[in-house]
Amino acid sequence: MRGIDVSNRVSSKDVYPYEEYSVILKPKMHMSYSYRIDRGRIIIELTDYLLDAPDQVLRDLCSAIAGWSRGKRFVLPESFTRYVMTDDFVVRNRPKYIQRSRSITCTQQGRCRDLMDSIERLLDSGLVLPSDIENSYISWASNMARYRFGQCNQMFRVISINPILDFEDVPDHVVDFVVYHEILHLRQDRSKRRRPHNAQFRGWEHQYPGYEKAERFLRNIYSMESLGEDSL
Ligand SMILES: [Zn+2]
Repeated sequence: MRGIDVSNRVSSKDVYPYEEYSVILKPKMHMSYSYRIDRGRIIIELTDYLLDAPDQVLRDLCSAIAGWSRGKRFVLPESFTRYVMTDDFVVRNRPKYIQRSRSITCTQQGRCRDLMDSIERLLDSGLVLPSDIENSYISWASNMARYRFGQCNQMFRVISINPILDFEDVPDHVVDFVVYHEILHLRQDRSKRRRPHNAQFRGWEHQYPGYEKAERFLRNIYSMESLGEDSL
């Protein structure tokens, strides 16, 4: 896999006690952090999403990784966490993420349903606030694991929806519920690590009128013959 050498943006002070070091950015779908030691040299590999990151962000991250290599617990530096939450980072890197994820079709208009209709209904009802979906992207997926109906990448603010929901027989309120659920992941505070479906999340989710009915429908969806599973 090709990579971009950005070692010159980091100093040996950042990666103490290593005198020799390399920092390589590689094209990967997810943000990743890794290192290996080769004859006293530390080779740090990061994702190329960080190509435009300020030097300080790279340096702090490399410093955390050097610490990790010496047995310290790996904690993402605050400068990094703050940077990846900026609109600029998201806008710059989202196209790469979408391209790499492959299952994202980049279309809101499916065969039967337009996901923008769901968004509009959710906004009209007041369940979703404009700020929830600010700088986000939604699309149908080309495929998705069974029993998953939607996916949300919080870092790049991308929602994708299982194409099994793109059928006439699936009521609006079920599609809207799935879209709503994924939007709630965008609403969650990304700066804190927490269980995705915690009590606060469930509280929001249960504000959806008839959520139990929608959940029941989803549980039974694969047993509905009329949905033409063979085409999926
Ligand atoms: Zn979820």
